[in-house]
Amino acid sequence: MADNTPQEGEGMRKKCNTCGRRRPLEDFPADPRRGDGHGSYCRACVAERTRAWRERSKANREKQREWNREHMRRKRGAA
Ligand SMILES: [Zn+2]
Repeated sequence: MADNTPQEGEGMRKKCNTCGRRRPLEDFPADPRRGDGHGSYCRACVAERTRAWRERSKANREKQREWNREHMRRKRGAA
């Protein structure tokens, strides 16, 4: 479904706060808290953010697990 009709009015477009590109409203995920019902970041930027966040949280979790293991060992071992 290629629906890139460029004849849409400017009013249907919204500027992404992250990449600064003007995109059709439908490129912005729905966000009921926003006045226009769409989030401030386009799907591409949201996907990128989500990916970065997931990677970071995964790294954090691994670090945390490592720390826990180390901590437990130290706690259990002869202090
Ligand atoms: Zn964007």
